[in-house]
Amino acid sequence: MSKYWSRLVKDTDPYVPGEQPQTKVVKLNTNENPYPPSPNVLKAIKEATNDELRLYPSPTVDELRDTIANYYHLQRDQLFIGNGSDEVLAFSFMAFFNQDEKIRFPDITYSFYPVYAKLFNIKYDLVPVKEDFTIPVDSFFQSEGGVIFPNPNAPTGLALSLEEIKEILKNNSEKVVIIDEAYVDFGCESAVSLLSKFDNLLVIQTLSKSRSLAGLRVGFAMGSADLIEGLNRIKNSFNSYTMDRLALAGAKAAMEDEAYFQLTKNKIISERNETKDKLLQLGFEVLDSSTNFLFIKPRQISAEELYIKLKNKGIYVRYFNKPHINEYIRLTIGNREDMEQFFSALKQIVYN
Ligand SMILES: *Cc1c(COP(=O)(O)O)cnc(C)c1O
Repeated sequence: MSKYWSRLVKDTDPYVPGEQPQTKVVKLNTNENPYPPSPNVLKAIKEATNDELRLYPSPTVDELRDTIANYYHLQRDQLFIGNGSDEVLAFSFMAFFNQDEKIRFPDITYSFYPVYAKLFNIKYDLVPVKEDFTIPVDSFFQSEGGVIFPNPNAPTGLALSLEEIKEILKNNSEKVVIIDEAYVDFGCESAVSLLSKFDNLLVIQTLSKSRSLAGLRVGFAMGSADLIEGLNRIKNSFNSYTMDRLALAGAKAAMEDEAYFQLTKNKIISERNETKDKLLQLGFEVLDSSTNFLFIKPRQISAEELYIKLKNKGIYVRYFNKPHINEYIRLTIGNREDMEQFFSALKQIVYN
């Protein structure tokens, strides 16, 4: 604590990201993709590494907006692109939520939401998830200030159907409903198809997970031109150029390499399904997953002890020391070799 800090800084309670160890470990703790980005991405970034870096990038990122708009059959003015979806989420809190109108999000969810709400002084209600960790759809109806949740949810991995999302949208017609689709490509339906029917819907996606580009920092929002204009007004009050030239080039190449995307995404889905079966055989409780991670509960050992013992063996998983979920571990799906190392360590810990 410094006497020079503003009250805002003194009162803030920042998000704590998963550990980023600098030594070589099996890293199954922050839901990164085990496969490299498409070779076309690396090529595009190398090509963009040229004299033009002396020039500012495009403030409106029209070219990348067109690429993504084309991919999802939307118009350019329905797209907003930011420096990772975390930035897009932060801008969205400012653009669509008012301080004195309580917003709602699940009590078990992405832990950045309460951080943004507190930073921007937005009141919120935590909606308890059900016993089985599913989201109680009706509890989100008629919110005072708006709604935000990930679909599939994190860290549970559970997804709502489009029908359920429609109900939430219909019952919040005066307020914005933000669906954070960070993991949508790994197994559930995107709400993008609902944009034509609901002008209170904002869908946010990222290239960090399913497109292997956590290091590039690219996320985007899709919504009505009016909502997108709201985001632009916030962005242009912070920083005209949130997207650098290399990120723009790499992101475009990633969105255009559909074959590579399908290939790597499907490998992760099948590895996830196999991992789930093996864990069930070993007596774990395993939640259904529409994501690139599994939310699992060990039975022979506490989750915390397992987390520590795995870490001592160089295998990093995520453990949340919070009520309701402190008996669970979130395991990112790695490649075949990562998972073999995980299981071999697990067997030594639990069965020796
Ligand atoms: C990973 C994640 C994000 C952040 O993605 P970035 O684009 O890397 O900032 C947002 N929401 C959820 C639920 C996530 O898990």
